Amino acid sequence: MGDTPKLALSLDFGGTKLACAIVNTDLGKIVNYTYMANKTKNASSNIQEMLTMADWLLSLDKEPVSCVGVSFGGIVHPDGSVVSDHIPGYEDINLRNILEEKFRSPVYIANDCNAAVLGEWYYGAGKDKKDCIYVQLSTGIGCGIIIDGRLYSGMGGAGELGHICVDDGSDEVCVCGNKGCLENFISGWGLKNRARRYWDKAGEDSYLTRKCKGNPDNASAEMIFAGAKEDDPFCRWLTDTAVRKLGLAISHLINLWDPSLIVFGGGISGDFSYFIDSMKEITAQHVPGGDLSHCEFKKSKLKGNAPLLGASILNIMDNTD
Ligand SMILES: [Zn+2]
Repeated sequence: MGDTPKLALSLDFGGTKLACAIVNTDLGKIVNYTYMANKTKNASSNIQEMLTMADWLLSLDKEPVSCVGVSFGGIVHPDGSVVSDHIPGYEDINLRNILEEKFRSPVYIANDCNAAVLGEWYYGAGKDKKDCIYVQLSTGIGCGIIIDGRLYSGMGGAGELGHICVDDGSDEVCVCGNKGCLENFISGWGLKNRARRYWDKAGEDSYLTRKCKGNPDNASAEMIFAGAKEDDPFCRWLTDTAVRKLGLAISHLINLWDPSLIVFGGGISGDFSYFIDSMKEITAQHVPGGDLSHCEFKKSKLKGNAPLLGASILNIMDNTD
C-alpha cells in the first residue's frame, strides 16, 4: 500500500449529478465542493463539464493535490475504460487516459458502489471492520464488496446486486433486458414502474392517487414509502413486496460472502428504520440456521458523500503488493 496523500481531487460522475471535491484524506473531510445536475447527452460534454468544475476547485487552493480519484456510475474495466447505461460515447473512449493526460498524474477510477464501500469502510460505518458490503438503494441498485480488507471488483462488473433474479416467474422486464431482477421491485424506477403497472389496485381515495393527483407518472419511491408508513394498502403492498425481495437478495449476499457488516446507502435507505426488521426476517428465512447474529446491518454514515470520499483514497487500495 502507498502513502495516503493529504489532499486529493475527487470526481463523482453520478446518474443525476456531477460532483467534484477537494478531500483532506488524513481527516476524511471535504475541503471544497461543487456540483451540477447531470443533464449532458454525451460523454465528451459530460467530461468537459466535470473538468470545468475541477479547474475551478483547483484554482481555489494553493496546496497541490497529490491524487485524483474518480467514482463512475457504470461499469469500470481494469484498463480504465467505462460503460454508462445513460450517456452514450463512453464506449468509444478511455476515461482514465483522458483524465491522466489532463491532470498529468495517475488517475484511479472505480464504479460508484465500489467507491462508496471504500468510503464507508475507511471513514464511515465500516471503520475497523475486516469485511464490509455497501448496498446502494437508489434510482438503481448495486453493491460494493470489501472482503479481508480488499476491494473485490471482479472483471469490473462485480456487485450487480440489482440484477440478481429474485422472481424467476416474473414477466416484469428490467432495464438490463432480463426479467424478475431486484431492481424491478425496489429501485427508484422499479417502484414507480410498479405503481404505474398496478395503478388500478390503488383506489380513488388512496394515498398515491391523492399525492399524484391521479397520475401515476408523478409517483416516486419516497412517496410510496411515505404512504406505506401511513398504512395505505396499495403503498404497503408495493413496499412489502419490495422489502421481501430485498431480504431475499441480501440472503444471497450473506450466503456467498458471510460479511460482518452490510451498510445501506442511497435515497431509499432513508427509510432504513422502517424496513430493516421485516427485511431481516425474510433474510433469516433464507440463511441456513436463520442466524444473522454475526452480521451487522447499518445505515450509511457518509450518505451522499460516500463515493467522493471513497474515490479520494482509491490509490491506497490499488492492490500492487
Ligand atoms: Zn436487471
